[in-house]
Amino acid sequence: MIKTLLNLLFPKPCSGCGTTLLESEHLVCTHCRHDMPFTQHHLDNNNETAKKFRGRLPVEHASSVVYFHKEGIVQGLIHNLKYRGKEEIGSMMGQWYVHDLKEIEALKDVTEVVPVPLHKKRLRERGYNQVEGFGKALAEGLGKNYNEDILLRTHYTKTQTKKNLAARAEIINESFDVAPTDSDNGKHFLLVDDVITTGATLEACGKALLKIPGAKVSIITMAYAHS
Ligand SMILES: [Zn+2]
Repeated sequence: MIKTLLNLLFPKPCSGCGTTLLESEHLVCTHCRHDMPFTQHHLDNNNETAKKFRGRLPVEHASSVVYFHKEGIVQGLIHNLKYRGKEEIGSMMGQWYVHDLKEIEALKDVTEVVPVPLHKKRLRERGYNQVEGFGKALAEGLGKNYNEDILLRTHYTKTQTKKNLAARAEIINESFDVAPTDSDNGKHFLLVDDVITTGATLEACGKALLKIPGAKVSIITMAYAHS
């Protein structure tokens, strides 16, 4: 009764398309849920996400949950997740995918789920890492540890006088390092991120993790964008 009244007074928009949600719907409307552009990457070892890393980074498995299209449902979801405080979207997408991931043989020996770390400045502005909900949902669903301490962004401030500003920014952005203990040797790390476009950030993160002796890396992103 009170819930109905609250819904009438403060209608909640669908995070995908913006239409008012029914009382029975949560975060996304039935239409968006039905039209969700799932990639089915988990069924194909040679999928698009995996191909991005070929020749760049050895990965045990790589896949994305959904396709990101401009003006599409997933753009709405990611926008709400990153800029509108809708952290639960990440958890929801993680829960959608856990069932499929359990079937993947290559992921059986994963021990840690590792989020791509956010810049400290961004973290302060946003108040949360947008990948956290997704990563934690996967970790919980698969029975793995969620480890946000092992991978760090480093402040690479060496001046690149010959490069233009954009290139310099990218170099600064894409620097990562690891803070492992001896017990991390030989572990299989499942790296998670929100949207994969060029894969440069994930490649840099994966290379940092592979500095750990005997380490293996897999990658799962919430969304795949054609670059
Ligand atoms: Zn919708």
